[in-house]
Amino acid sequence: MAKTVKMTQSQFAQIIAHAKACLPEEACGLLGGQIEGDTKVVTHIYNVENIDHTNEHFSMSPKDQLAAVKKMRAAGEVPLGNWHSHPETPSRPSDEDKRLAYDSKASYLILSLMDADSPVLHAFHVEGDVSSRETLIIVED
Ligand SMILES: [Zn+2]
Repeated sequence: MAKTVKMTQSQFAQIIAHAKACLPEEACGLLGGQIEGDTKVVTHIYNVENIDHTNEHFSMSPKDQLAAVKKMRAAGEVPLGNWHSHPETPSRPSDEDKRLAYDSKASYLILSLMDADSPVLHAFHVEGDVSSRETLIIVED
């Protein structure tokens, strides 16, 4: 199973920009791309509306999710996982995040905005109530 996630600086910047635009609420989105051996190569970040509109948890808009999956199919991408922001807490899955992480093949990325000047993004694998860090590589465009 792929244990490394690779994205570009501009994709990382897109996640940060969307997360900051949604403050004080949590923001979320999907990752589309290709699996190359051990590595999930992100080719698109899809912003998805957090229909909970709170700073404590998120639910992805089913409409936005469907639209993103259609675009992935059209682009020949596979769904790699998702991301969401933690406006006030560290980059690690909450108990609720783990409970809602039903897909052990997906990568779960969490962006912490605790320190607004240096956002922290980590990738996680979640299986049951156990989460482990995946390797996240951010490369120049
Ligand atoms: Zn969370």
